[in-house]
Amino acid sequence: MVRLVLFDIDGTLIHTNAAGITAFGEAFREVFHYPAAVRGVSFAGRTDTGLARQILRAHGHEPTPADFDRFFACYLGWLQHILGRVGGGIFEGVGPFMADLRAQPERPSFGLLTGNIRRGAEIKLGHFGLWNDFEFGAFADDHENRNEIARVAQKRGSDRMKRELSGDEILVIGDTPLDIECGRAIGARVLAVATGHFTVDQLREHKPDWAVKSLAEVPATEALR
Ligand SMILES: [Mg+2]
Repeated sequence: MVRLVLFDIDGTLIHTNAAGITAFGEAFREVFHYPAAVRGVSFAGRTDTGLARQILRAHGHEPTPADFDRFFACYLGWLQHILGRVGGGIFEGVGPFMADLRAQPERPSFGLLTGNIRRGAEIKLGHFGLWNDFEFGAFADDHENRNEIARVAQKRGSDRMKRELSGDEILVIGDTPLDIECGRAIGARVLAVATGHFTVDQLREHKPDWAVKSLAEVPATEALR
C-alpha cells in the first residue's frame, strides 16, 4: 500500500513555457556573460545544480560555492519575472488526481521529488497555487544527482512517519526516463506521465509500473494499490 506519493514538477504537475530554461539563460548571460549558455543543453529530468555545473565546466570554469550562490540568486529573480509573463498552467488531470488521493480512507502523504532548487520550486508552484499542497520535498539543493535526491525524499518521508518507508510504499510520479530511474533507485513504484517531452511509448521503454498520457487516466485506488 502506497503511503507516500512523490511528484516531479516540470512536465508532470505544471508547464511554464520553459520559464526555467529561459531564466537559466538570462542568469548565465548576466552573471557569467555567456551569450547562449543553454543552447543545445537537455534539461528534461536533470537537476538545476547539476546543469549549472555542466554549463560552467563546458565554458572552462570549475564552479565554486560562491559562483552557485551568485548564479542562483540571479536565476530566481529572472524566474519570478519570466513566470509572470509566459503563461503556462497545471496539466489536465492533476487537480482531480490529487483530490482523489486525498479522498482515500488512508490518505497518502504528498512530497516533491524534483531537480529544481527549493526556492525555484516554491516560486513555480506558488505561481499556480500548488506549493502548499506538499508536506515536504527533496530538491537540487540536496544533491546534484536525481537518484540521490530520491534517497533524500525517502529519508524525509520516513522521518515524518517515524518509521522506515519501504520502496513499495512510495510512488514516484514523473515525466522523463530519469524520473523512472530515480524511482527505481529507491525501489519505489513509478508512474510515468507523457505530459512532458516524452511519449507513452518512449517512457514505456524504461519500464515504469504505469505509463499514461496524463494523470486524468489514473484512478487513485489503482495508483495506491
Ligand atoms: Mg519533469
